[in-house]
Amino acid sequence: MTGTRTTTKAAAAAPRRQGANAAVLAFDVEVRAVQRLSANFQRITFGGECLRDFGVQGSTDDLRIKVVIPPQAADGTRTPLPVIDCEDAGWYRNWLAMDVQERGSMRTYTVRAARCSLPQPEIDVDFVLHFDADGVGGPASTWAAEAKPGDRVTVIGPNVVHCVTAESYGGIEWRPGLAQHVLLAGDETAVPAIASILENLPADFTGHALLEIPDASDIQPLSTPSKVAVTWLPRNGRPHGEALESAVRSAVAVPGYASVGRIEAAPVPARRQELEDVDIDSVILWETPARLAPEVVENSPSPNTPAGALPFYAWIAGEAAVVRGLRRYLVREAGIDRKQVAFMGYWRHGRAETA
Ligand SMILES: Cc1cc2nc3c(=O)[nH]c(=O)nc-3n(C[C@H](O)[C@H](O)[C@H](O)COP(=O)(O)OP(=O)(O)OC[C@H]3O[C@@H](n4cnc5c(N)ncnc54)[C@H](O)[C@@H]3O)c2cc1C
Repeated sequence: MTGTRTTTKAAAAAPRRQGANAAVLAFDVEVRAVQRLSANFQRITFGGECLRDFGVQGSTDDLRIKVVIPPQAADGTRTPLPVIDCEDAGWYRNWLAMDVQERGSMRTYTVRAARCSLPQPEIDVDFVLHFDADGVGGPASTWAAEAKPGDRVTVIGPNVVHCVTAESYGGIEWRPGLAQHVLLAGDETAVPAIASILENLPADFTGHALLEIPDASDIQPLSTPSKVAVTWLPRNGRPHGEALESAVRSAVAVPGYASVGRIEAAPVPARRQELEDVDIDSVILWETPARLAPEVVENSPSPNTPAGALPFYAWIAGEAAVVRGLRRYLVREAGIDRKQVAFMGYWRHGRAETA
């Protein structure tokens, strides 16, 4: 039940919504199933006829969506969400201008699996159940912890008719291009994306997938046709990111091209690349390169990607300060070319996602 291709002949033949010209659509969906995967993960299956129009024509990989969480009244009840029309170019501005107690809260999630060509179209989203020491969570984690079949949310996601390629949606960052040797590294919020990417990797891909999780009970069965080695890193109370950084340093030793490019000796000494720091308090850390094209590999200006080094691609996501630290290490210390790494701050410690 984890197929991630979202188009089939059956889906193509199904009647489509009239006038759905936008690249993204708002899907009014219902909770069909809730499955507690582990202490810190809740899988929620959303269903609805409208999901026939959801998806991209290809692998979903790390496809991101927005989930609009219904507002909660003082007595704990949830108020129905307003209708969002993504064909109106100003839909987001208009939605944002509404009172939060009317519009709800919008949060970013990954589609863990999509089965939109089935007679009953569905998508799975794996929510991390995060709560602080006082038991207070964000709107999304609180909602997910209490979700039950029949509850409703709005999902903002790709319109399958318009999203002919991953690029035409803009919500898929996994772009290894020519690289076949990869590093996937992330915390628990990146587990759904890494799991989905791994399921779609071709058999000849090699490398490492490093997943930091709160504790060992959060380890999930993952499958991949590739030769990428999967390592789970239970935090067990250690500071967030410590285990991940240590594992990344082992997987990509200095100089980076020697360990990931699999060439024996350094023809040129690793040179420190200039790297402007990112102030994660004021901006979202989000640096994703374009698809690694042949000319990028051949004409790479980086002194640290010498001829003979195999194309390498890294995908890093999780708490922003941790991702920033990994960016500094991989680019500055290990000398990996920035054009070969996607760095994504999925959330910020002590900061709610805006909206
Ligand atoms: C592209 C993308 C894909 C993502 N995919 C997923 C996914 O599939 N599953 C998933 O669970 N998350 C995912 N996330 C992360 C998720 O969007 C954030 O964790 C989000 O902040 C959760 O919203 P909230 O309403 O629960 O908390 P918020 O209201 O945003 O935050 C409330 C407080 O909780 C803290 N907080 C937020 N997230 C966490 C956390 N994970 N652990 C500890 N403290 C936290 C914040 O720092 C803040 O202090 C993704 C993010 C991005 C950008």
